[in-house]
Amino acid sequence: MEIRFYNTLTNTAEIFQPVASDCVRMYSCGPTVYDFAHIGNFRSFLFADVIRRTLEFFGHKVHHVMNITDVGHMTDDASADGAGEDKMQAAARRVKEDKKSGRVPEGAVQNPDDPYQIAKFYTDAFLQDAQTLGVKVAFESDNILHATQHIDTMQEMIAQLIAKGHAYVGQDGVVYYSVESFPSYGRLSGNTLDRLLTGAGGRISDENQANKRHPADFMLWKADNSHIMKWDSPWGTGYPGWHIECSCMARKRLGRDVIDIHTGGEDLIFPHHECEIAQTCGATGEDTFARFWMHARFLMVEGEKMSKSKGNFWTVRDVLEGRATGTQVHPAVLRLELIKSHYRANMNFTKKGLLDSAGAVRRLTDFRAKLEAACGGKAEPVELTYPILQEFAEALADDLNIAGALGAILPWASSTPSDPAAALGALNRINDVLSIAPLGSTLSGAAQVSGELAAIEDLCRQLDDARRRKDFAAADGLRMEIQKQGYDVKTSPNGTIAEKRLA
Ligand code: AMP
Ligand code: ZN
Repeated sequence: MEIRFYNTLTNTAEIFQPVASDCVRMYSCGPTVYDFAHIGNFRSFLFADVIRRTLEFFGHKVHHVMNITDVGHMTDDASADGAGEDKMQAAARRVKEDKKSGRVPEGAVQNPDDPYQIAKFYTDAFLQDAQTLGVKVAFESDNILHATQHIDTMQEMIAQLIAKGHAYVGQDGVVYYSVESFPSYGRLSGNTLDRLLTGAGGRISDENQANKRHPADFMLWKADNSHIMKWDSPWGTGYPGWHIECSCMARKRLGRDVIDIHTGGEDLIFPHHECEIAQTCGATGEDTFARFWMHARFLMVEGEKMSKSKGNFWTVRDVLEGRATGTQVHPAVLRLELIKSHYRANMNFTKKGLLDSAGAVRRLTDFRAKLEAACGGKAEPVELTYPILQEFAEALADDLNIAGALGAILPWASSTPSDPAAALGALNRINDVLSIAPLGSTLSGAAQVSGELAAIEDLCRQLDDARRRKDFAAADGLRMEIQKQGYDVKTSPNGTIAEKRLA
C-alpha cells in the first residue's frame, strides 16, 4: 500500500519512500526544558509518535530521535540575534515561585540557581509525561538527545560552515550564518530573502544590522560571559544558537546527511527549520536535509494558541488529575484526544472532546475484554487483508487520517465478531499504532466524575427542568450559578451542557 504524507517542503501529499530501504530515519524537535511541557507541545510529540508507529505498522524499521533543548538560550531565541532574557534566569525565578505553590515539589531542584538542576527536573518531568502518554521514543534513552551533551559537535559544524564560506564572525564577535551564501534559503517557509524585509513580523531585528552582512543572518555562536550556561570555543566563551543543535544532533545520531522525516509544530517552520536546512545543507553540500518536513498545527484554547508565554496552558498532569476539566481521565483518553483530529487542522481543547474520547476508550476497552473472554485471551495474527485492518491501513496511509480510522474502528468495536481471536489480533495491531485501548484493569480512573462535576451536572439537570416548566427566572438563576463556577453553559438537543472554561 502506498503511504502518502503531506510534505511542507512541496506543499503536497507525496508518496513516502525511505531514502535507504533498511530503515526510516526520523528526527523530531523536542521540548525546551525550562518549564513543564503543555498538552499543545504534546500534540506535536504525539503526532511524531503516530508517524513512527504508522511506519512500523506498514513494516518499516524506524530510527526515531528527539532532542531536548537544555542549553540556556534567550527568551527571544527565535529572533536572529538571540535577544531577550536568559531563559534559565526566568526559569530560576519561576521554580522559586512554583516551589512555594507546590507545582515543583520541595525536594526537587535543590538549588534553583543551578541551570543543570532545572533542566534535569523538567527533562525528567517531560520524559515521564511522554511515557505516560505512550510516546515510544521517550523509552529509548539513546534516542533522546540533550543539546548540552553535543556542544563539541555544534562547534565542529560551525567551524565547517565558516570554512565553507557559509558563516562568518560579525562586527560584534558573534558567529553568524550568511543567508546569502545559501541560495535556497526560504524554500521551506516561503520566506525568501527578497520577501524578508527588515523587521517583517519582528523576525529580523534592526538593531544588530551593522554587525551583520544581511539582516536575516542568524546566530550560530555568541560569546557572552554573563550567560548562565556557557562553554569555551574558538569564538569566545558563550553559547550556541538554537537552530544549530538540531542540525548537528540529527546528523550525528541518525548517521546520514539526508534523513527521511523531520517533524515539529507549525511554528517551527520559520525560522527554526528554515535555518536547520541552511546549516545542514551548507555543511554537507547536499541540496536536501530531510526528504519530508511534517508539521502539526496548533492546539488552541478559546481560539488562541496554547502557549507557555500566554499562560493559557494545561500540563499532562493537570488534565489527568482533573484540574483542567473537573474530570480525571486515563492517559489513553488524553492521548486519543490529542491525536484524533487531523494534524493539519487546528484543534480546540474542550471538556466535551475529552469526554467523547473517554467514551471511545471505554468502548475499545470493553470490546477488548469481550474478545478476550470469547477467545480465552489468545489473539490470532492477522494480515492487512483482514477487513477492519484494511480500512484502518487505508486511512493511515492517507496522510494519517485518524478520524477516518476511528470512523471504521468504533462501529466495529460495537459489533460481536464471529472470529474473536482474529478480531483481537486486529485490535492489537490497531492499538500498536493508536495505543488507546488499554487493558480494562488499568482503566479504573477513566471518565471518573469528580465531586465538582457531579454537582455541575445536577445544576444542568435542574436547569433543564426549569426550562421544561417554563420557569425562566429559575433557569436564569441556575445558568448564572453554573457560570459562576467557571463553566460555559450551552444548549444542545440533549439538554444543557456545561463546559469548563479552559482559560
Ligand atoms: P517548545 O518546548 O516551546 O520548544 O515546543 C515544543 C514543540 O511543541 C514544538 O514542536 C512546537 O512547535 C510545539 N508546540 C508549541 N505549542 C504548541 C501548540 N499549542 N500546539 C501544538 N504544538 C505546539
Ligand atoms: Zn529543532
